[in-house]
Amino acid sequence: MPTKYVLKRMARIHCARGPKRCKTCKDYAKEKKIALLDTDPDDQGLIARPMIEIEFEGETIHVPFDVLAYFESFEEAKIYAEKKNLAVTIIKEED
Ligand SMILES: [Zn+2]
Repeated sequence: MPTKYVLKRMARIHCARGPKRCKTCKDYAKEKKIALLDTDPDDQGLIARPMIEIEFEGETIHVPFDVLAYFESFEEAKIYAEKKNLAVTIIKEED
């Protein structure tokens, strides 16, 4: 398993309606950011969370997540994580 906190390049999430029905979602979908995700939120089960697919060491896993912050670059995100003392796993682009 990756660490609780992961960095992943992804479009920002706005709401559940999605890019087809929501203009803000559509705008967000155009531009990817580096997201700092908490893949082990404390109140798991209480709230229906979106799931994210993560490729980790050749395996695809599905985890619930909270987005803690967005960054412009992995560098910026790593500096932030270091400051906060968070151990992060960087998820490589799946391409
Ligand atoms: Zn939206």
